[in-house]
Amino acid sequence: MVVASQSEASAGTVSGHLTPGPILLLGAPGAGKGTQAKALVKEWGIPQISTGDLLRSNFERGTELGRQAKVLMDRGELVSDDLVNQMVTDRLKEPDTARGYILDGFPRTLGQANWLDGHLTAHTGALPVIAISIRVSYNQLLRRITGRRICPVCQTIYNVYLQPPKVDEVCDKEGAHLVRRSDDSKEVFDERMRAYESLTAPVIEHYRKLGRFEAVDGELEVDAVSAGVMTAIARLRG
Ligand code: AMP
Repeated sequence: MVVASQSEASAGTVSGHLTPGPILLLGAPGAGKGTQAKALVKEWGIPQISTGDLLRSNFERGTELGRQAKVLMDRGELVSDDLVNQMVTDRLKEPDTARGYILDGFPRTLGQANWLDGHLTAHTGALPVIAISIRVSYNQLLRRITGRRICPVCQTIYNVYLQPPKVDEVCDKEGAHLVRRSDDSKEVFDERMRAYESLTAPVIEHYRKLGRFEAVDGELEVDAVSAGVMTAIARLRG
């Protein structure tokens, strides 16, 4: 269990007047980046940009990018920087990103981080990016990932160990048979952890050195983690 700092543990509300700007949520697979991104969307009405979701949506729409990405995703490997950077460039052109946005799962390599820094510098007036890392221990991540099940109809996320449905493998709301993401097996999880440790951990160091980084304890209750994330953002934007 990661111990929360005093300020994380006592996190309270954050000024609604704050302009959030670009916020990176970093963390290992299963750390809760998506869940916390949704809390920030609710707080500030800015979009969540998940590169994993964008890639999955490309695959579902049958694009060439989606087909290329799926092979790598199913092995737990990263998609090339060029492909992902281009996808993010296109998404950042949308007008809903003007006050800020939450990047969930991007940047995952130093190359992507350098590209993003350059991209933002080129857009004068943009606030600098700030990075929040959600820290969760290996055993907890493993349970979250290998236990994760999703309702194919309403997208509700369950966990067979931590938050099971009333009837095994069946959605409480829709009665649909729950599905598993194709990359949520133990083998692929281990590969994703290797990619995270070798390629994404240096991204954390990059933003730490720039003084634009904070870590929060991701093993607390969801609301307490959200409070920690918002307090960290307020401090970094203060
Ligand atoms: P996620 O949904 O964030 O867990 O991402 C699922 C998979 O999509 C990852 O294991 C990678 O294969 C791919 N992916 C997502 N974001 C990136 C990124 N920023 N760079 C490279 N590959 C990515």
